[in-house]
Formats: sequence, C-alpha cells, structure tokens
Amino acid sequence: MHNYLDPYRDAGLLRQWAEKLRNYRGKPLKLMEVCGTHTMAIARYGIRTLLPDTIRLVSGPGCPVCVTPSYYINNAVRLARRPGVIVATFGDLMRIPADEGSLLEAKAQGADVRVLYSPLDALKIARDNPERQVVLLSVGFETTTPVAALTVVKADEEKMDNFTVLSANKTMPEVLKLLAADPTVGIDGYLYPGHVSAIIGTRFYEELAEKYGVPGVVAGFEPLDILAALAALAEICDSGRPAARNLYTRVVKAEGNPVAARTMEQVFEPADAVWRGIGMIPGSGLAIREAYARFDAWKVFDLETDHDAEPEGCRCGEILKGTKAPTDCPLFGIRCVPENPVGACMVSSEGTCAAYYKYGGVR
Ligand code: SF4
Repeated sequence: MHNYLDPYRDAGLLRQWAEKLRNYRGKPLKLMEVCGTHTMAIARYGIRTLLPDTIRLVSGPGCPVCVTPSYYINNAVRLARRPGVIVATFGDLMRIPADEGSLLEAKAQGADVRVLYSPLDALKIARDNPERQVVLLSVGFETTTPVAALTVVKADEEKMDNFTVLSANKTMPEVLKLLAADPTVGIDGYLYPGHVSAIIGTRFYEELAEKYGVPGVVAGFEPLDILAALAALAEICDSGRPAARNLYTRVVKAEGNPVAARTMEQVFEPADAVWRGIGMIPGSGLAIREAYARFDAWKVFDLETDHDAEPEGCRCGEILKGTKAPTDCPLFGIRCVPENPVGACMVSSEGTCAAYYKYGGVR
C-alpha cells in the first residue's frame, strides 16, 4: 500500500543526499538539532553515521521534559501527595527523579497520578471528580502549549473551580539566541525544530541569522528531510552568508499558525524561566495571565520555585547546550539506563541520552 511518506524514505534519493553530504569539503562545522523529535529521528535512522568527519551534529535543548527544573518535579510530587488532589500528566514526566522522588514512586505509594493522552482529558477527570482538585502538569514548547491554553479557556467557559495547571511551558526564541551568542557552545548552524516552527513560523529565524550570524534550516522528520536539510545547512554555513531556509514547507508556513499562537497568547504571557542545567533565561517561559489566575496552580497552591539541582554526576546541562555528548558522561549506560535513569535526558522519549542508549551515538 502506498504511504504518503514513501518519497521521503526513497533509498535512491537517500543515497544521493548522503553522498552529497560525504563530499562536503568546506570548513569544519558544529551543527545543532534543536528538537527532541529530531534527536530521536537522527539516532533512529543512523544519520550521524552518514556525516563526514568535518560535520559534527550535536543535540540541543528541545526536549521539554529534559529542561524542566527539578523544583517543578518536587512541587508536582508534593501536590500529588496532598489529600484530595489528582495530578494529571503525560507519561514522560512520571519517572523523572527529583529530591522528593518521582511521580511514579508517589503513585506507587498511593498518590492519585493519572497519565493522559491529551490535556483536555484532565477536564473530564475534573468533571468526574467535583469534590477533588485536578492539577494538570504542562511542560511543553510552542507545539503543545496552545492545547494547554485551550484547556484553560474551556475550564473558564465551564466555570470550573476544581481544575488548575502547573505550568513550566517554555518558548524557543530566547534559548536559541542565548546559545547562538555563547562562544563556549560555538554553533555554526541550527536544524530548526519542525513542530515549533509550524506554530511560530520562520520570520524569527531570519532575525537570528542576521543578528547572531547563525544560519539554520527548518526540517521535517523523515530521513530525506533531515539529510537534505543538513546538506543545505552545510552549504549555507560554507557560503559565509548566514540565512534561514525552510525545507519543511508541507507543514511550516512563514506566518506559522496564527490561530494556535493567538490561543496561546490569550492565556499565557512571557515570563522568565529556569531551564534545567542551563539556568534562568529571561523571557523564555510562559506564565498564566492574571485573567486566568484561578487556574494557575503556582498561585492557587502558593508553591515555591526553590533551587534547581542536577543529580550528582549527571551531565544533562552540558548535553542540552551541545557542549557534551551522552557518551562523555561516566554514568551513561552504567549507572544511568532507561530502566533506572539518573537524569532527565535518559527518561524522556525525546531525551538525547535515551536516544543514544536506544540507537547508539557516534560523536
Ligand atoms: Fe544524566 Fe544519565 Fe545522561 Fe549522564 S547518561 S547525562 S546521568 S541522563
């Protein structure tokens, strides 16, 4: 049966693009794939094995669970242990270790923690349990935040009084600027996040290339998408004329998705945010607006944003900045494995350490 993705997996075309990349003779490049879904796809398809020695592809901070600070998990676990509270979450957050333990451990000890497929499912839980408080954990980027915002709008329309959101939502532009300007990171070009780009569009990337001198290419997630984008990116880098290009036009438009962006802006406003292992980045987070404050779990439960701490020996922070690879961590594959993770990068299905462990990493 014909699959519409078949053209993006065509063996002949893949060989041609891999050959083009292997013939790259320009200056050495350090390229960063920003998105966790790219990280997984690159590892799954063995893309790193197809690159010449002069092109190094590192992973960035685009796994939302991985960059969520430890105090967020501590607060979520404390909330889950409160009598009368139901915590609703995506499965990726369940096993993240923190000082208070993980949500999975809290659930095993009797806390009511429920795994969702959509944030909107949390509203049903709230409707079905009017005598209890339902707290939705929300940690995504621009891709998933619009649905979290829609959930708040619907809760408001239904005048719910037993539903709140514990938000650690973040946005991509400020962290991309920060890494582009950091000489210790030394990125030559970005493989921009495809899903985020579908919401924010491509205009910001032109500013990033112009002001920070770091070019990039928007890429899809099939092997041909990624190889073609890397070849285009290498060509742009080598030209010495930073520019942004969109090779994922079947999904990403220059203007993004204005409806999703408006929904997000209706409920959330820019705020400072702590990125695990990177620190506080001004304006890189999203806080629930005052008009919806009664749905903001930080305010309703008067929660503290205490310190963010990496587990001892964990190098997630450097991995999320692209200055280290998982194989540089002495715990990788020894003390830290998916069944018994030490850090967040080994837990999430989009985590770099999890990708390297599952599929193998080259550099
Ligand atoms: Fe942290 Fe484990 Fe990755 Fe090491 S292998 S950086 S301990 S998540």
